[in-house]
Amino acid sequence: MRILVGGMGHESNTLNPIITGENDFVITRGEDMLNPNWSTQSSAAGIIATLKAAGCEIVPVLQARAVPNGVVSAAFYQKTKAEFLQRVRDALAAGPIDGVCLPLHGSMKVENLGCAEGDLVGSIRELLPEIPFTAALDMHGTITPELLRTVNGFAGYKTAPHIDCAETGALAAGMLLEALKTGKRLYTAYRRVPMLIAGEKSESEAEPMRSLIEACRQAEKRPGIRAASFLLGFPWADNEHNAVSALVTSLADAGPADPAITAAENAAEELAAAFWQRRKDFVFRSEYYDSEGAIKAAYQAVLEKKEHPVFVSDSGDNPTAGAAGDATDLLEKIVATMDTVDKLPTPLLYSGFYDAPAAAACIKAGVGATIDTTLGGNWDTVNGKKIPLRLEVLKIVRDFGPYKSDLVFAAHRNIRFTITSKHIGFGDEKLLPALGVNAADYCLVAVKLGYLEPCFRSIAKRAIMATSRGCSNEVLETIPYKKVRRPLYPLDRDMEL
Ligand SMILES: [Zn+2]
Repeated sequence: MRILVGGMGHESNTLNPIITGENDFVITRGEDMLNPNWSTQSSAAGIIATLKAAGCEIVPVLQARAVPNGVVSAAFYQKTKAEFLQRVRDALAAGPIDGVCLPLHGSMKVENLGCAEGDLVGSIRELLPEIPFTAALDMHGTITPELLRTVNGFAGYKTAPHIDCAETGALAAGMLLEALKTGKRLYTAYRRVPMLIAGEKSESEAEPMRSLIEACRQAEKRPGIRAASFLLGFPWADNEHNAVSALVTSLADAGPADPAITAAENAAEELAAAFWQRRKDFVFRSEYYDSEGAIKAAYQAVLEKKEHPVFVSDSGDNPTAGAAGDATDLLEKIVATMDTVDKLPTPLLYSGFYDAPAAAACIKAGVGATIDTTLGGNWDTVNGKKIPLRLEVLKIVRDFGPYKSDLVFAAHRNIRFTITSKHIGFGDEKLLPALGVNAADYCLVAVKLGYLEPCFRSIAKRAIMATSRGCSNEVLETIPYKKVRRPLYPLDRDMEL
């Protein structure tokens, strides 16, 4: 069997003014996708491993991915889509294709197009009518009518932070293989739950997500059902389709009265109702305050309670949620209290800022130099200002990671900053070690992140979340949405389903 694999993955934050373009994406083409070292924790890796184990011939097209950021450039999307479709035509010229399994995110937005996965899969479907088609999606995917019309079977991540990407890919590929081997058809039942949830209220280890995901696992044990998923939508995209989705895919062999179809419909109905019933139980897991309150609580924890290290998440400007990475709400509160910062027993570590001009200026000056520059406010000019700082350059790393960002470690009085030349995430466990920095050595660590990644959580004596201003503002009720379909909880609190 020949199975087509490939896709584009992006989580696009429509509040962020940055346009995500060619330089932000990494594209893996054709056979390079089959390299066993490629993206091992991804849904693509799970799909490929499953198909390989089943002895399929994999037709790898291309996979484009970028760090969450602002919407994707229309020119880049159209060019990449055209290349994708040409590769599908080339593969078809070499022989028939039996099935399609795509690793996608589900919340990619493109300039002038909006939700883009439906457009991509629709164009692929035109070239490959009839054959079974499955997709692995991120938990923050958004379901659109085009996606539902085209894709026969869906599997979504069950964990946040996402640690089951490969398993989700394996589930999507497994459903496809079963459909092909048995000749049965994949059927997906869908229910919209009119809700949006801040990312930091929906960790899968905490209630109510833990129980709701367990309900999905139980549903998957019912006869005929192959995958049950909640997709939460993406709260920082102002889009008419944004909402929570309950999706249940089953394998059916008869007509509309097939019990597997009824089972999927019933399970989707029950899961959606269970989710809605728990809507008021979604709360922040860690202690949280606005930026001023958060930094005050952190000072108190360090200076009076001698806690070390204390983490403060600058959650409103989290680049891994697509925020700009240069908002300065929290930094302004820190700079306003420099006398306290100077009294801290170790420097305050701030990781970090996406500021290409500041990184370039530091690199030009070189290690050991001191320069007057600014941090922040290049992109997010609503929540960020250019904050003047005198920086001593301590360390420089060039071309870090898959996105080849330069990294700078610099000091301003008793603060140490990491500064990146590219828009990358600050939860990357390799970033600080690359600069020779151990977060555990610092009494207070501010990080542009929401919930702490395991590398930070494992060392944090205390984790405080700043509900700071920025493009990943966790207080959804304060975001001026214009396009989302109302009523929508929690924007409309008294609504009924
Ligand atoms: Zn996600």
